[in-house]
Amino acid sequence: MNLEHLWQSTLSEVELQISRPNFLTWLKNSQLTHKEDGVVFVSFPNNFAKEWVENKYNKIILSVLRNLDSSTKKIEYIVENKNSSNNQNIKNKQKKVIEPDIKFQQSFAELRVDPETNLNPRYTLDSFIVGSSNELAHAAASAVIKDVGKKYNPLFVYGGVGLGKTHLIQALGSEIKKEYDDKVKVKYVSSEKFTSEVIWGIRNKRMEDIKERYRFVDVLIIDDIQFIGGKEKTEEEFFHTFNALYENNKQIIISSDRPPRFIPTLEERLRSRFEGGMIVDIGYPDYELRTAILKTKLQDKNLNLSDNIIDIIASKVQKNLRELEGVLNKILFIQNTKNTELSAKEVEDIINKTIQQPTKNVSDSQVIRAVIDYFHINTNDITGRCRKNSVAEPRQIAMYLLRDILGMSYPSIGEKLGKRDHTTAIYAYNKISEEISKNQNLNQKVLAIKEIINKE
Ligand code: ADP
Ligand code: MG
Repeated sequence: MNLEHLWQSTLSEVELQISRPNFLTWLKNSQLTHKEDGVVFVSFPNNFAKEWVENKYNKIILSVLRNLDSSTKKIEYIVENKNSSNNQNIKNKQKKVIEPDIKFQQSFAELRVDPETNLNPRYTLDSFIVGSSNELAHAAASAVIKDVGKKYNPLFVYGGVGLGKTHLIQALGSEIKKEYDDKVKVKYVSSEKFTSEVIWGIRNKRMEDIKERYRFVDVLIIDDIQFIGGKEKTEEEFFHTFNALYENNKQIIISSDRPPRFIPTLEERLRSRFEGGMIVDIGYPDYELRTAILKTKLQDKNLNLSDNIIDIIASKVQKNLRELEGVLNKILFIQNTKNTELSAKEVEDIINKTIQQPTKNVSDSQVIRAVIDYFHINTNDITGRCRKNSVAEPRQIAMYLLRDILGMSYPSIGEKLGKRDHTTAIYAYNKISEEISKNQNLNQKVLAIKEIINKE
């Protein structure tokens, strides 16, 4: 077997053992360059890929290689393109794992969204705790900082709800700005905001103004791209914006709740653009990461909970870091009101009431049906125009739940509930989210409806 053939066979077996994004990102461009006294030399385009593969996949690759060619003793990992810089720095970032002694965060000063970049200073890389579920995404983000607009372009980060995508890509934007002394122009936009801008531009014949907004951007960050799929004109505009930036070596950073090939409505040409870059996923956090996040948040607030209580929370809230934070805040709040430490049983009750039970394929109609049943109203009330509170509130709750439980896009929520504008859905979602944290009565209603949905 010649060397090229040997390497291709090795890769096709390795591909079965690691996730596809990992494979595409790290191994796609590797080569077996030569072999000497049983030492196989494999080259990578940059030091980052080389180190990553060497640290993570050596064992797998070596065993596959040995199976195919029993004279293989070891693998030497080399970089073909010698001009990669700043390796040490990347290496340090890459090695950053959860440290037991977690740093205090900076104060809450100036925590507001920058109108120029749309970045929220609350999201920093320092406050992004790294564990096994997100270390690849974190390492990829660190690599982009050193090499903006070049090798890792676009960077596509995907993962489920509440796992840290927005946090990571926003932090990356802020970090790039810092690293380059504000000389680069960074812009963050949700794909829903982008969509509504395009719709506005078309309606008002002001598309040029919208284009202008993005033309001079050096780093474009677009969140939740899955919501763009399927809207022809928006996709078209995004495609042009993407190409214009990409061809000028501008960095594009994208998040999604799933990999490009699973966004059914995404145009082929966009999909293949995305797949040409670096795709990384964020998985469910493991127990260690959940505990580390809880402890950090407590330190930020200068508050304490017993290890036993932290353990209960970290064990029970498994799949969503936003929920983890929500549960923590609720427990702290109740504890503070009662002025005594809560028992394990009380904490468990709070968790059970707060977290979303794993959703069993709930449909939008089921959610709406549950709201209708709970309030004893009918379908026309929910989709109709009546503004009486007895139907307006259920309508807003339905909008909230469609977003909260199913992650539906605002335009589809509006469409579903009586062909309303997406801004109505955004308003309803924000209003209910805010109110349930203050209004216990409303909170009870929402929890009761969730219970109906989960029982079905
Ligand atoms: P997503 O965009 O994937 O739905 P977010 O980025 O909004 O998730 O994260 C949800 C919450 O969890 C945010 O408050 C975020 O700051 C927090 N979070 C997520 N991942 C981490 C992490 N690795 N370290 C610290 N906090 C995190
Ligand atoms: Mg998000």
